[in-house]
Amino acid sequence: MAANDFRAPRLFLDHPLSVGAGSDLDRRGAHYLVNVLRLRAGDEILVFNGRDGEWRARLVSSGPKRWRLEFGEQTRSQTPASDLRYLFVPLKQARLDYMIQKAVEMGVGRITPVLSDFGQVRKVNPERLRANAIEAAEQCGLLALPGIDAVEPLGRVLDRWPDDNPDRRLLFCDEAAGETDPLSILSQLAGAQLAVLVGPEGGFSDEERRRLRSASWSTAVPLGPRILRADTAAIAALAIVQAVIGDWRRRAPASGD
Ligand code: SAH
Repeated sequence: MAANDFRAPRLFLDHPLSVGAGSDLDRRGAHYLVNVLRLRAGDEILVFNGRDGEWRARLVSSGPKRWRLEFGEQTRSQTPASDLRYLFVPLKQARLDYMIQKAVEMGVGRITPVLSDFGQVRKVNPERLRANAIEAAEQCGLLALPGIDAVEPLGRVLDRWPDDNPDRRLLFCDEAAGETDPLSILSQLAGAQLAVLVGPEGGFSDEERRRLRSASWSTAVPLGPRILRADTAAIAALAIVQAVIGDWRRRAPASGD
């Protein structure tokens, strides 16, 4: 199995990873590998824990319906989580599951659920958010899981903005931002630390929009002439951010490479 082999099954294991060590598989892991992927004893997968990089691991049977993973060598060293933050207003469960998985695939490194004036969903299940983030990370080759904040009112998050560094700019997807070109707006922010905020299906209230537009650290971002559903807007916004000023831009190979 080649390193960076994105076709190989990947499993998140909350367990230290080191040469010659191993770990019993919990129910989730055993179900996924043996029942869903139909792997057998001796098959190899890739495992990661968000701290020790990615490792080759061999599936071994340790008794009736009991399985272990024996770790081989490290295939990729640990990389830090992305710096891109994503703030969203919770949606109903199925759409929320989908939106979290897509945000992780799009490369966000910190996820903040916020309650807004027109949001219909007032609480989230943090374990379910984490499970969706893990499933997406397994599937898309990520090594670091995004941080997931506790849900809190948007106003309180804005009161503390930015809570991690003074230069973080908040790009809020504003359905009332008119039809200016988002790429020209984003290209002026190259190099900035960023957060993307998507509103609820009911949109932002006038008071929220007024507050967001008046903040010096915030930029309204239009997403074209049509009204997108919140989960669509999340993918669209994260795609143009990553493509214009994010990690989709391939750095030109250094001369002589
Ligand atoms: N119900 C509202 C639309 C809300 S769409 C209305 O009819 O006006 C849900 C969220 O997706 C919005 O709050 C915004 O963050 C984002 N969004 C949807 N379409 C958008 C667009 N064309 N431009 C910018 N953001 C958009």
